[in-house]
Amino acid sequence: MELPAAGRPLQRVWRDRLPRPRAGQVRIAVSCCGVCRTDLHLVDGELAHPGHPVVPGHEIVGRVSALGRGVEGLALGERVGVPWLGWTCGRCSACRAGRENLCARARFTGWQIAGGYAEHCVADARYVFRLPARCSDEEAAPLLCAGLIGWRAYAGALALAGDVQRIGLYGFGAAAHLIAQVVVFQGREVHAFTRPGDAAAQALARALGARWAGGSDQAPPAPLDAAIVFAPVGALVPAALAAVRPAGAVVCAGIHMSDIPAFPYALLWQERRIASVANLTRADGEAFMRVAAEVPLVVHHVPYALTDANCALADLRAGRFSGAAVLEVRPSNSAPT
Ligand SMILES: [Zn+2]
Ligand SMILES: [Zn+2]
Repeated sequence: MELPAAGRPLQRVWRDRLPRPRAGQVRIAVSCCGVCRTDLHLVDGELAHPGHPVVPGHEIVGRVSALGRGVEGLALGERVGVPWLGWTCGRCSACRAGRENLCARARFTGWQIAGGYAEHCVADARYVFRLPARCSDEEAAPLLCAGLIGWRAYAGALALAGDVQRIGLYGFGAAAHLIAQVVVFQGREVHAFTRPGDAAAQALARALGARWAGGSDQAPPAPLDAAIVFAPVGALVPAALAAVRPAGAVVCAGIHMSDIPAFPYALLWQERRIASVANLTRADGEAFMRVAAEVPLVVHHVPYALTDANCALADLRAGRFSGAAVLEVRPSNSAPT
C-alpha cells in the first residue's frame, strides 16, 4: 500500500519481484504492521513527503525470510520487529553522543525507507528488535512505536520533573494506553485526559488502572508532577502546564502538533519545563522490550486488513477506535517466490 503523494489515498501496488536485501540487511515477511499517527501526518502532508511514492508503516512484525551478506545474529524464520529508526550515520556528533535519534542523516522506516504496509520489507539488521515472547504479533506491533515513544517520553518526564508520583497523559490512544500500564506497574498514578466526552477512551483508561480519567477541558483533582502530551493539539500544552506543579514538566511526544497558542508566562513560571521527545534510539528499544517482557501489558489492538489501510487511517483521524490499529498482512495466493 503506497502513498503516491501527500493528500492522496494509499494505492494498492503489485511488484513482481521480492525486495533483495543488500549487505547488512534482512528481508522480512511481514505478519502485521501497526498504524501510527505519524503515518497520518505523512498522508496529510504535515511531514514532508519524500518526493517519491512511499510505503508507510514503522511498527512492523514479521519473520526473517532472507539474509543479506554479512548479517550476523539473526536467523531465517526468526521473528523480529522493525521500528521508525531505520538507519543512522554513526559518525556525527549526535550519534557519537548517544543521541542517534537526532542524527541529521537518519533515515526512517515508512518515510525514507519503504515500510511495513506491505507483504515484504527490507531492514538494516542492526536496527531491528527481538520482541517479547509472550506477545502475539498483533500485540507486539504497537510496542514498536506507540510503546517505545511513550517509554521515551515517560523517561524524559521522570528525568525533568524528578520525584514523580502523579502523571497526566493527554490523548489516550495507542501510546498512552501502553505507557499507562507501565506507570501503574511502577506504582505511580495515571491521570488520563481524552477528547471531551470520549467515554470509551476514559473507560479504557480506568480499566487499565488510571486513578482519574476525564476530558482535556477538565482540571485533574490534584496538581500533576508531570504530563505527557500525545495528542497533536498545541492547545493541550498550556492546559497541561496549568495542571502541573512548580518544577513539573510537560513532555510533547508527537512528531507534529498544531501551533501552541500564546499563554500567560505565569503558567511556565516556577521552573515548569516544556520539552519534546524525538524518534528513538536503539537503547530505548532494548530497554522498552525488557520492560514489555516484565509488565503484563494488555494491548488493545483493532485489526484491519492490509488493503483497508486507508480505512484504518480514516478511523484514526476521526478517533473511531480505542487502542492501536494493526494491519494484518495475509500473503497473496499468487505471491511470487
Ligand atoms: Zn549521525
Ligand atoms: Zn510512530
